[in-house]
Amino acid sequence: MTKSTKTCRDFQSNVQENLIRHYSILDIVSKFQETNARVNRALFRAVTDCGCIEIDASKQILPDDCTFKDVRDHIQSHLSGELCENCKEVIESEIGQNLFYLTGMCNTLKLDLEEIIQREGQRVATLGIFNLR
Ligand SMILES: [Zn+2]
Repeated sequence: MTKSTKTCRDFQSNVQENLIRHYSILDIVSKFQETNARVNRALFRAVTDCGCIEIDASKQILPDDCTFKDVRDHIQSHLSGELCENCKEVIESEIGQNLFYLTGMCNTLKLDLEEIIQREGQRVATLGIFNLR
């Protein structure tokens, strides 16, 4: 029987089966951090090796009369261009690995990833622009 891979719960369950039981939380956390660095590295390689995207950063400048609501009209992402298919594929793959270890961490701590995503979604929907931390 093929396992379902459609929902967040399916993903968490599949990670549970594929991460060796009793795998040390220390190993999971260090792999989580390592895969996070790999996501960043893939992003920077899209800039420096491929060149499909560019980062041109400078100080964020907001007009004096800028309301909190208008902030998004003035804040820059410092990013231009679009990810090519290859870089997109690499970054998505690295994010997938990062999610794998994040989910493994949730399993070890008996946390429900779907509940976390739903709760965070409600928080974002409620706070809107005030969500900035
Ligand atoms: Zn690229």
